[in-house]
Amino acid sequence: MSTVEKQEPLKVALVGAGVVGLTCALALLQKGVSVEIFEAAARFGEIGAGIGIGPNAARILQRLGVLDELCAQCKEPGLTMREFMFYSAEGEHELLFEYPVTEGARGNGIGAYRPAFLDTLVKHLPPSTTHFHKRCTSVEPSTTKTGRSVLNFADGTSFEADVVIGADGIKSSVRSMVADNAKSLPVFSNTICFRGLIPMKEARAAGFTIEFHGRPLCFGSKDRHLIVFGINGDEIINVVAFAADYTKPIGSVSLSPDEPWVKSVPQEEMFQVFEGCGPQVMGLLECIKEPSKWSIHVVHPHLESFVKGRVALIGDAAHGMLPHLGSGAGQGLEDAYVLAGLLGHPQTNAGNVEVVLKAYDRWVRPRARMVWDATFRAGKIYDGWGDHGVSAEGIAQDIGTQWAPVWFHDVDDDIRAAVDELKLEDAFVSV
Ligand SMILES: Cc1cc2nc3c(=O)[nH]c(=O)nc-3n(C[C@H](O)[C@H](O)[C@H](O)COP(=O)(O)OP(=O)(O)OC[C@H]3O[C@@H](n4cnc5c(N)ncnc54)[C@H](O)[C@@H]3O)c2cc1C
Repeated sequence: MSTVEKQEPLKVALVGAGVVGLTCALALLQKGVSVEIFEAAARFGEIGAGIGIGPNAARILQRLGVLDELCAQCKEPGLTMREFMFYSAEGEHELLFEYPVTEGARGNGIGAYRPAFLDTLVKHLPPSTTHFHKRCTSVEPSTTKTGRSVLNFADGTSFEADVVIGADGIKSSVRSMVADNAKSLPVFSNTICFRGLIPMKEARAAGFTIEFHGRPLCFGSKDRHLIVFGINGDEIINVVAFAADYTKPIGSVSLSPDEPWVKSVPQEEMFQVFEGCGPQVMGLLECIKEPSKWSIHVVHPHLESFVKGRVALIGDAAHGMLPHLGSGAGQGLEDAYVLAGLLGHPQTNAGNVEVVLKAYDRWVRPRARMVWDATFRAGKIYDGWGDHGVSAEGIAQDIGTQWAPVWFHDVDDDIRAAVDELKLEDAFVSV
């Protein structure tokens, strides 16, 4: 069939209304692609925690026209988040490394409150696009129309679409349509964390004296580290306190089936893990009266493809990773934007969509894999497992400019390159 022949518009079904799914839906709608979102929960929701949005993700939000609104929602005048400062978690908290400041930059990311991020996206989507209480249980080929897929939901209903996008997070059910090893995924990362939000005033009263000046802080120690940054104009401090076991390969340890991945724990459990840390760290942890403990799971080994036929994965469903570069959602936003850019291309149609999805996979997967590997390496450095040790010199050498390949990449270049390839493959015509 000729690629320029007039065809019916594509009908896209998107599973999962998290930040990545909603970004994809917004990008698709802006390209004129009709999309229906199916969400398992009863309403939109995000956990009450902070999220770092790096320059690559911020650029995407800007191109979608929602960045200024997000900054306003987060009580920030603009992109105020800057480069990290690295301190020892112990003793008097020696300053170990100041990540080099980007030339001329006063800030290039934002520390956001997760619910505010989700709300900002929701406001830009017509309410009728999202269907709640729709837990997708399987995706199978349509028996009536070649190439189409049928999504089955836990409530017994189903929906038929030309393209299915799995944005259903780390526990993705759509992944089983795409990956042969989906049954063994995701795996425990041997990393746990305790999370909490602390009003700045309380932290100051508890003896936390370090000023942020827009710079997130990392306090490192053997097998454990804390990530600390301000949100809501520094009224609130977001704390994530990690502990990891690097002696065992990822995937070799599993939680027992009845162990929840996220649970509330007594403060004492957290104190035991961070015993011996210095006063700034202990002051912060004292303020987290009801910590939640997360057993972080990841997609590992890397998927061989994010696409099968007309089903594509984005976000944590495709590459759930450790959060040590604050870039898991950012990668998902990149997937969402590239996928929408290709599906929304004027020459994409039901006749060539499988080739277009393969191009999506070719352009986003290697990069997601690179970032996944870099986040794992970053965690090792913060936790004293870097190649050059925990001294200031060792940390400086190991961290170097680790964020550069993540932050300074423009996905519009990927879309352009993918389109050029599609022309060479004769899936698109040169006009
Ligand atoms: C401690 C920690 C700190 C982090 N910090 C950062 C950070 O600073 N910056 C950053 O970029 N990333 C960070 N991340 C990673 C980031 O949180 C994730 O990458 C991101 O939230 C993934 O978004 P998602 O939309 O792919 O998945 P999710 O947010 O998990 O959304 C999936 C959605 O799909 C729905 N769903 C699930 N299954 C089904 C189904 N079967 N049918 C229908 N709907 C379904 C869910 O209800 C949910 O709404 C961090 C992660 C952790 C654990």
